[in-house]
Amino acid sequence: MLPTARRRALDALKRKPSAPVGPLFAVEEEGAEFLHDTLDKVAVLFPLPLPEPFDYRASGALGIQPGMHVIAPIGSRLVRGVVWAVERDNPGAANLKAIEEVLPGTPLPEITRRFVDWAAKYLVRPSGDILRMVVRSPDALLPPPTHSVLAPTGETSIKLTEARARVLAEAAKEQVSAAELARRAETSSAVVKGLVDSGALARLEISEDPPFPAPDLTRTGKDLSDIQRAAAETVCASVRAGGFHVALLDGVTGSGKTEVYLEAAAEALQEEPSAQVLVLLPEIALTQAAMSRFEARFGVRPVEWHSAIPHKARRRAWREVAAGRARLIVGARSALMLPYPNLKLIVIDEEHDPSYKQEEGVIYQARDLAVARAKMGGCMVILASATPSLETLVNAQSGRYAHVQLPSRHGSAELPDVELIDLKLEPPEKGRWLSPALVRGAGEALVRGEQALFYMNRRGYAPLTLCKACGHRMQSPDSQSWLVEHKYSGRLVCHLTGFSIPKPKACPECLTPDSFTSIGPGVERIEEEVRDCFPEARIEIFSSDTTPNGEAVRSLVERMEFGEIDILIGTQIVAKGHNFPNLTFVGVVDADLGLKGGDLRAGERTFQLISQVTGRAGRHEKKGRALIQTYAPQEPVMQALAAQDRDAFLAAEAEEREAAGMPPYGRLAAVIVSAPSEPLANEASKILGEKAPNAEGLDLWGPAPAPLTIIRGMHRRRFLIRADRGVDVSAFLATWMARVKLHSAVRVQIDVDPYSFL
Ligand code: ADP
Repeated sequence: MLPTARRRALDALKRKPSAPVGPLFAVEEEGAEFLHDTLDKVAVLFPLPLPEPFDYRASGALGIQPGMHVIAPIGSRLVRGVVWAVERDNPGAANLKAIEEVLPGTPLPEITRRFVDWAAKYLVRPSGDILRMVVRSPDALLPPPTHSVLAPTGETSIKLTEARARVLAEAAKEQVSAAELARRAETSSAVVKGLVDSGALARLEISEDPPFPAPDLTRTGKDLSDIQRAAAETVCASVRAGGFHVALLDGVTGSGKTEVYLEAAAEALQEEPSAQVLVLLPEIALTQAAMSRFEARFGVRPVEWHSAIPHKARRRAWREVAAGRARLIVGARSALMLPYPNLKLIVIDEEHDPSYKQEEGVIYQARDLAVARAKMGGCMVILASATPSLETLVNAQSGRYAHVQLPSRHGSAELPDVELIDLKLEPPEKGRWLSPALVRGAGEALVRGEQALFYMNRRGYAPLTLCKACGHRMQSPDSQSWLVEHKYSGRLVCHLTGFSIPKPKACPECLTPDSFTSIGPGVERIEEEVRDCFPEARIEIFSSDTTPNGEAVRSLVERMEFGEIDILIGTQIVAKGHNFPNLTFVGVVDADLGLKGGDLRAGERTFQLISQVTGRAGRHEKKGRALIQTYAPQEPVMQALAAQDRDAFLAAEAEEREAAGMPPYGRLAAVIVSAPSEPLANEASKILGEKAPNAEGLDLWGPAPAPLTIIRGMHRRRFLIRADRGVDVSAFLATWMARVKLHSAVRVQIDVDPYSFL
């Protein structure tokens, strides 16, 4: 806690918060006598949508330093914030409001503060919004709560009854509370109290947030193959060299990328006793499998961080990371924002995955921010993928990133045979979605006692519900999107906003009963067809609806691994990281689905997803086979999938993007205007359009109605900015936004490097 002198000074300041501070505080600190008559001007940034820190006064006696957590008044409210700057001995501060309290939490490291400022500028957001992503666990700033437990003292001069002996025996096993000890020893609390009173048991206060056990660095990993060892040596050498490096760890699924980056993590932890290592994963659902693998390698579970961890675990993780005691952290994208004092290695697994892009609130791409954070902090980054993003591959090819390759699967596992099924030549029967070849392929796998997977990247039963009598389409009431039928729940669901209604008995337009027909397939409809084809098979759906949490994912993955499922029908959730040894057949039901949106990365994304899915087939000794259904077999992306020629596909994609000046050869940013009425949206976007600054090497398109014109009742307009690589797009956006004052009901979102164009 605070030294008494500081506490006294604080109390004095608190007493007269608005009056100028009197001349002298006599402060005694640890025996020495100091006379502080100075005032500091303290800039405090709050985790609120405020662009800049506010200034306060504080007695020099407090010794306030940048990074300290404080409480200070904003108007009549007291708010927690972080000290951003201190001007010592500034008498001009006398007229400012006083800092209310200094909190005892570990100060925010300098690197984190610089990162917050940089990210705010880059993303064109108020710094306070970025700080809010960092200070996500306010109670981690207070000393950890404690609870009391009982421990045997070794006192032997007591009268020992049978019950007392049982209590002492239990107490010797584990330190627990008095009530728990009584319960375990099957006796009354009076017996336990008697032992405390007689001195045989002592009460201890223990922290509820103890430090995490340290990784065991004496353990070694798997015996690596020559090629894996060479890769591991390259990344470990970069770790040892220290400073900022980025390496693309580029290897087919199952080639041992995880084994290689585990070696790099071990190296970083060994190099420096205070080094911290962060591993980012795209899906919370994947963390459990990864946690077990890390545990096997380092003897302890890493510290876990994502949006679903319970409050207490969050508080403990945040405190231990800030104090530098948590050394190995595994998490989702938000783990990047934790206040690491000494981060030395960041691994981004499946670096191409779009879920690294946060699309709500502060819009950011965690992979790109991680590289920037690493550059600031002199840290190594490993980007691992079997299907790297074009951005990353171009950086690797140009030599900005090291390119570490693992070209083949580990052991005897081979890549699957991949074939295209031209749906124009081999169509499914009417009203069905699986061509005869797909059904045959799955059947052959089942006959061999192996497993099959059908991939259909759409949740629910059918994407459109239509009235046969009047043609009415069931649409979301406040968004421009069709309602997707979910047969299991009997509801129609908007996948954009989560809005849902029970499926009506009659058409709401023409009132004809039972007039609905379902158009198009989702996983539930494919399941119906698969059940019809394979009535004996054990079939399950793997989508976010059937596996709403990590536990459900783990259980399903285990059933699949243990051979309790014959056929899995999955959305893109199956594409990620799972390893099913007995799965040898993959059928892609609709490969064209992802190409329909027509955005910048549609081809790239389709290639990544489908090659990850087909890569699930035959990961162990058994050879795999994958069939891809498409109406466009001549498309370069389909040809590349069949030939499994990623580099040729990406080279063609790169050429197109370069010619158009698109990322990674140019930069994009989007400005999205939303307003509660159409005239307001039109007016606001017109004003914005008129106020746009002129800039060299930059094109501004729009405003145009967004493809999703209405979401949750908000009317949306979009601008798209394309700029040459050297142009400071963030500065352009900041200048532009500073020129406009819009109606308070209008919302403007800035998306630097957009992935979604909806
Ligand atoms: P990737 O991350 O490239 O998909 P993994 O590291 O998950 O590949 O490896 C795929 C499978 O092969 C895993 O079950 C892994 O434990 C196993 N494996 C990889 N390398 C080795 C090795 N050198 N020795 C034993 N098993 C290995």
